[in-house]
Amino acid sequence: MKTKRFLLLLPLLLSLPFSPGRAQGAFDAFFEPKSLRVDFVLSGNATHQTAALLQLREEPVWAGPVKNLLDTFFYGGYYVNVYHRASRQLLYSRGFNTLFEEWRTTAQAKTETQAWTNSISVPYPKEAVTVEITGRSREDMLFYSLLRLEVDPRSIFIDRGALKANRVTTIQYAGEPSGKVDLVFLAEGYTEGEQEKFVADARRFTETLFAEAPYKARRGDFNVRAVGLVSEESGTDVSGEGVFRQTALNSGYYTFGLDRYLTTPDMKAVRDAVWNVPTDAIFILVNAETYGGGGMYNFYAIGTADNARTPSVFVHELGHSFAGLADEYFTSEVAYDETFYNLSLEPWEPNITTLTDFEAKWKNLLPKDTPIPTPDTAEYADSLGVFEGGGYLSKGIYRPKVHCAMRDYAPFCPVCSRAIDQMIDFFLF
Ligand SMILES: [Zn+2]
Repeated sequence: MKTKRFLLLLPLLLSLPFSPGRAQGAFDAFFEPKSLRVDFVLSGNATHQTAALLQLREEPVWAGPVKNLLDTFFYGGYYVNVYHRASRQLLYSRGFNTLFEEWRTTAQAKTETQAWTNSISVPYPKEAVTVEITGRSREDMLFYSLLRLEVDPRSIFIDRGALKANRVTTIQYAGEPSGKVDLVFLAEGYTEGEQEKFVADARRFTETLFAEAPYKARRGDFNVRAVGLVSEESGTDVSGEGVFRQTALNSGYYTFGLDRYLTTPDMKAVRDAVWNVPTDAIFILVNAETYGGGGMYNFYAIGTADNARTPSVFVHELGHSFAGLADEYFTSEVAYDETFYNLSLEPWEPNITTLTDFEAKWKNLLPKDTPIPTPDTAEYADSLGVFEGGGYLSKGIYRPKVHCAMRDYAPFCPVCSRAIDQMIDFFLF
């Protein structure tokens, strides 16, 4: 059945010619401290997807890792790979998720085909490279090639134009962007007269994040900026109630028909907003009160500014978008059908397991003699274990602790904390 080019990443990693100790040299040998932004369309339905190029852009900053050029987390439904054209050497890779892949698991995707805009940035190459986008198959969890682009860094087909220079407020500066995690808040649904409120909201969220472990001990590893996008109207769309607002990033509730699922499909607008801003993680701050939000790994997270539970939602959604964490809950309404996770394979997220390959998850953190699965009894109420229920399913998927920020806004469990720490480390020099 499989006619797409098979691509298993691991063998390529084993042939790496440079070690982490020489990595800054590797970056300087192959890349400039700028970004090549690749905007592309993913189209398809429940059974297949294809990718096509929209545009290439040269953008003036690179905030991503310069030490860890190859992404060995293997998180996400997609990878971007950059190969040196002449030697075929893999120079850079990074995993990410998209909203489109979630849509593919909804009932709608069984009956219609759609196209969604996406965008990913890689360091700007010095020489000719091949940029490849791969997508993960839900049948075997392996990555298959969706798009290959031959890119000459001097090509006239690369857009090098400036975009709108938005007001950027530095909330916290810890050091050079290429050696720090650069968190960016984007204003959505804030009018010209509400820009001060936006900066105050972003500062409040920043304090919320760094009051919470493990971020609390890692504050010095983050730069935080607020990008003040001006919307014509206040708030966001609530399409299920006939409310449509003219806003900078085209966000709205009722994603996939769910009233509290707040997202934007407009990745071009999101990436245009940060074209000249060092960015590793995006949080779209929506000027609204209603509970809601979302987060996709290495894509963006989004939430409302003024709901009482907003600070907890922010930390939870950033868990998805920054650290690749799965939802550990299994009782709430979701739009995905029963095939969101393939129970015969190990999911890629670090904080859930089907016990298919538990060794690769948190087995090495488990206290000795912990029963697997672990009973949900008083004895284990505060223990690390393997508790059934997680990833939207009450059976067949297991989570590390009874309560966690990824389930019910409790403090992060040790497995999620470790994953966040590892992701922060990935960005540092
Ligand atoms: Zn957890």
